Amino acid sequence: MTKKRVGIFSLTCDEGCSIYMIEIFNQKLLPWLTKMEIVHFMSVSDKRDFKDLDIALIEGTVSSERDKREVEEIRRQSKILIAMGNCAMTALPSGQRNNFDAEKKADIQKDVDAYNLLPKCLALKDVVKVDDNIAGCPIDEKKFIEIFEKYL
Ligand code: SF4
Repeated sequence: MTKKRVGIFSLTCDEGCSIYMIEIFNQKLLPWLTKMEIVHFMSVSDKRDFKDLDIALIEGTVSSERDKREVEEIRRQSKILIAMGNCAMTALPSGQRNNFDAEKKADIQKDVDAYNLLPKCLALKDVVKVDDNIAGCPIDEKKFIEIFEKYL
């Protein structure tokens, strides 16, 4: 049986969803490894291989031009793209600068320009087609298992 190629990606966020996902792996990884290989997950390996993915899991908000280019490339390389957690689904809470008042926005404008950030943080669905969503902050365990297993 050909194993599914899975990539796990973190955009702008605290990486809380992928840390929680590792907790889920503690109970589910061995059976899942009979059906998949994790080819990209920077938290455990610095190898960047995300060509021809079957499943991409992405956490975090799209906050910069770099994030945007990365998401577009992941989309081109993935059959199924899943938004993992509320930041990826809605841009919040990591994109809280979207809700700053005018004075606070003026305060951070220097950094927005210096780091080539987008005028506002975006959810994945604002940038690319998203095939499925796993809500929660961090992700809901039961939902993660249910949705991930659907595509394995
Ligand atoms: S949804 Fe919550 S736990 Fe997940 S990356 Fe965002 S802030 Fe962290």
